[in-house]
Amino acid sequence: MPFISLGLAPTLAQAAAELGFTAPTPIQLEAIPAVLSGADLLATAQTGSGKTAAFALPLLQRLQTGPSHTPRRVRALVLVPTRELAAQVGEVLRSLAQHLPSRPRIAVAFGGVSINPQLMALRGGADVMVATPGRLLDLVEHNALRLSAVELLVLDEADRLLDLGFADELDRVLALLPAQRQNLFFSATFPPAVEALAGGLLRDPRRVDV
Ligand code: AMP
Repeated sequence: MPFISLGLAPTLAQAAAELGFTAPTPIQLEAIPAVLSGADLLATAQTGSGKTAAFALPLLQRLQTGPSHTPRRVRALVLVPTRELAAQVGEVLRSLAQHLPSRPRIAVAFGGVSINPQLMALRGGADVMVATPGRLLDLVEHNALRLSAVELLVLDEADRLLDLGFADELDRVLALLPAQRQNLFFSATFPPAVEALAGGLLRDPRRVDV
């Protein structure tokens, strides 16, 4: 089954094909229609499953509708545990977004490096923010971005976010987001702390276990 049958725009399906993605992986098959419908999502997902495109494709499509902000405001926030994953997810989003008429701006930020280039990069605003939680809070404190217009939140590798000690930062980020939003939750494992985080975050989620 091609991507277009899942309800994706031809421009997104084309960008996926250019990355060599011709047919959806099992997680993409289930997650993409669910996310496009506006539902919250609880996905058990290992690295290598195609989980990044499973949220990136419908996320980008949802940004094609709704308000366009001037100046740009962050409408989708992707929280990740590590700088490597931040860079990787940002790269996939940029590749997949390249043919979209709205030309969404995708910003990436992570700790352990100087904040200044990240502050500069955010000067023109961003539509999608991919970040580790601590650096995201630093950027908010520097007034480099606001999170009050976030419509879609993704937690990627939620178990590793907790393992790496980001629970407090996560709570502080969540407190800055509008209550009305769509939440996508991806984790490889579901120990009790991860279950509790998902339970507090998600409303009537679709479950995807592949
Ligand atoms: P991920 O689980 O998101 O880290 O993706 C694992 C690998 O699968 C990456 O190298 C992707 O480029 C690749 N991939 C993702 N979706 C597809 C697809 N539909 N067809 C072929 N390869 C894919």
